[in-house]
Amino acid sequence: MNIIDQQQVVKMSNAFRAKDAVSEKFVVGLFLDDTTACQELADQLKHFNYTPKVIHNFIELQHCVRDGDINCLIVSTQLPDGNGSFLVRQLSPHLSGIPILFITRNDHITVHLETVNAGGIAMFNMPIDTTAILDKLDYLSYRKNTDPYRVLIVDDSETIATYISLVLQDVGIDTKIVIDPLKIMGPLTEFDPDLILMDLTMPQCSGFDLAKVIRQRENFNCIPIAFLSNEDDIEKQPAMLKYGGYDFINKSINPKNLGTSIKARVRKARKLKKFMVKDSLTGLLNHSYTKQLLENEFKQASRNNSCLCFSMIDIDHFKQVNDVHGHLTGDRVIKQFSRLLQQRLRKTDIVGRYGGEEFAVIMPNTTLNDAKFVLEDLRISFSKILHRSTEGDFQSSFSCGIAESSACASATEINENADRLLYQAKASGRNCIAVPIEKCTKAS
Ligand code: GH3
Ligand code: MG
Ligand code: MG
Repeated sequence: MNIIDQQQVVKMSNAFRAKDAVSEKFVVGLFLDDTTACQELADQLKHFNYTPKVIHNFIELQHCVRDGDINCLIVSTQLPDGNGSFLVRQLSPHLSGIPILFITRNDHITVHLETVNAGGIAMFNMPIDTTAILDKLDYLSYRKNTDPYRVLIVDDSETIATYISLVLQDVGIDTKIVIDPLKIMGPLTEFDPDLILMDLTMPQCSGFDLAKVIRQRENFNCIPIAFLSNEDDIEKQPAMLKYGGYDFINKSINPKNLGTSIKARVRKARKLKKFMVKDSLTGLLNHSYTKQLLENEFKQASRNNSCLCFSMIDIDHFKQVNDVHGHLTGDRVIKQFSRLLQQRLRKTDIVGRYGGEEFAVIMPNTTLNDAKFVLEDLRISFSKILHRSTEGDFQSSFSCGIAESSACASATEINENADRLLYQAKASGRNCIAVPIEKCTKAS
């Protein structure tokens, strides 16, 4: 393991993430009666890529609101300047669209009613529960899944495929076209579609047969397939279902109906997929799907001769967290950490929950040095997050092992290497990251 310069870590990882992060700036105005709690909340929000703006008095608040400086306001119900709800009501003509969250020391229903009348959308008690506030902010800033729907179109007629593609793009769906059905496997892996639209009759092979082949490949046996046909002979439909087909779409219907009916199917497919591939506590990908994606990404990296990093992360002394603070608090730490991973890594990185307090991160097109800098930055952030507990506030940490694809012959090997390195990180005292020594260059 090597020593990493902290300033360099921040600089490098910011540059690394810049393309995702810049457009997502979400400024949270903090106007609280307790300056220490306010600064603490500001520091915690920064770890999750929010931009806190501490507001010191009502005049400053007026300027912020009028100049459109904030995306959201968190305000105390009692302030040195007066009653928080009353002050907010005075600003109401200028507050349109700015969500307001109140923080109170007195959760009596009359206080709550005052906040609702002032336009508050939530009220939280002191001491501040950062997790609850982050849940709300995530919702407000739409940081949830904004991944566009993806449909793979397989049709030997370029004209028809292009027509369908344009219809789908019109309703906001990303598309990829495969004209030669025998070349479907590459795009299937790389594009990761929510749905395949498959022509029934093609010169190289029939849509039926290709569906059977796809169903027999373990990685793809759950992708829904809808057959495209001019056939309006409904007698064929049971046969399609038997062969692993999912649905039947008549491509000669008018474009508007074609677009909306395919979109409805993709939406349903995405929902089903969510149940199959996501972990219910954290919303991260589950173990088996993460492993499947690791295989796909490993193959793609080998094909493209690009570098892929795979990291195994395990929260330190987590049994102790449960023993001292209770299982529910433990769950909240896991959720908090998952949120940090999702918000701080790039959209192209794949984050999974491998087991209880164990996580996996796949970083395509990433050198070992870049991966190390980003995860080191994350490690420092996580260790600074304050977790609330009736047994006393506490901090947590994680250990991590990062392996790199060029040194490995298979997805299994990179997984084993990362696991071994994680073990080394634990053995060297925890709260640190282990990388293959020979691959490391020191931060300059
Ligand atoms: P180490 O630093 O070596 O990783 O020590 P550790 O205590 O974190 O590791 P150990 O494997 O001994 O304990 C992991 C604990 O994580 C035990 C298990 O009860 C707990 N755990 C696993 N899944 C969950 C979960 O979903 N929620 C909570 N609260 N705890 C969990
Ligand atoms: Mg652990
Ligand atoms: Mg463990």
